[in-house]
Amino acid sequence: MLELKNINESVKNLQVIEMMTDMNHEQLVFCNDKETGLKAIIAIHDTTLGPALGGTRMWNYDCDNDAIIDVLRLSRGMTFKAAITGLSLGGGKAVIIGDSSAQKTEALMRKFGEYVNSLGGKYITAEDVGMSAADMVHVKKETDFVTGIPVEMGGGGDPSPITAFGVYMGIKASAKYKWGSDDLNAKKILVQGVGNVGDNLVKYLVGEGACVFINDINKANLKRVSELYNCKIIEGNLMYDLDVDIYSPCALGAIINDTTVEQLKCDIIAGAANNQLHDEVKHSNILQEKGILYAPDFLINAGGLINVYSEINGYDREKAITQTRKIYDTSLEIFAKSEAKNITTHQAALELATERIAKAKN
Ligand code: NAD
Repeated sequence: MLELKNINESVKNLQVIEMMTDMNHEQLVFCNDKETGLKAIIAIHDTTLGPALGGTRMWNYDCDNDAIIDVLRLSRGMTFKAAITGLSLGGGKAVIIGDSSAQKTEALMRKFGEYVNSLGGKYITAEDVGMSAADMVHVKKETDFVTGIPVEMGGGGDPSPITAFGVYMGIKASAKYKWGSDDLNAKKILVQGVGNVGDNLVKYLVGEGACVFINDINKANLKRVSELYNCKIIEGNLMYDLDVDIYSPCALGAIINDTTVEQLKCDIIAGAANNQLHDEVKHSNILQEKGILYAPDFLINAGGLINVYSEINGYDREKAITQTRKIYDTSLEIFAKSEAKNITTHQAALELATERIAKAKN
């Protein structure tokens, strides 16, 4: 009796249905399997444009509430990402609660695949933080509703290099809009998070002669990337005081918040991390007031989604790269729209995405 009361209390406090209503989610699926230790949540935000495709993140969340909020926010972002990119896809995402370096097993991934399969194609998964193409191979043993599988199995492999290329296109478009030229030679650029995407992004930036600074909480990643591309390491929170031309968040979300927004010294923010703005309205407004050009995350990090989407109808890497290159033009379109309507770039991007969904609904 006591246990049931506690469960009721926590659900009541979190007000899950109310959050789904606020953010307009269609479905939230909780998965629990004692044998494999799987604890996962699949969120389906909107399927107007097609099946909800979005990666699975494995993360050691402090509490279940953090996992629920993360999956709700991430899946909503996927809806807008697919819509603004012109893909016939809806928005979804999954999170697995746990330490990916210690708790991930084939049995756990296969059990997760069973849950994905039970949704009959309404949700299609792929890899995200804490996941790899090898994990998707295990998922594929239980369901066909999975992308991001290795090239040798007919998939597109790790989507991160294409994501990085799209972010690079977004950065160049931002530079073009801000300074009249997209040449990044000698520009000071801070990349926060040099994991799968950040590493590939640094390669593009250094290749163009940019002066790149890197920051990460993972010392091994920092050492590898700094040695590989000869870029400077900036330790801890010192990075927020660094005077740079471009700040590229490629770690986790909510990095633009009440504290950092006052510290940041840059002209442009353009990076891969999902949900960079802690408060979409408040922080995008502050950035605009400060004259910092913000490239909406769900617009410029869509390369990976384009890549996994390409797998659905037979993978074509060249086609995926061509479509990812278009992020440059769409970014310029969004910046122009934001200026013309005197709204934030985030708002302009949301408007374009929601217009496409509304058109499909009618
Ligand atoms: P990853 O796990 O490979 O790399 C993330 C890196 O960020 C790691 O090196 C980690 O140590 C570092 N990090 C975490 N917290 C940090 C902090 N507080 N400060 C500094 N560094 C920190 O992940 P990834 O695949 O490179 O993805 C990076 C971001 O881009 C994520 O937000 C992800 O959701 C987003 N994204 C990725 C893809 C993709 O194709 N991989 C696509 C779209 C969006």
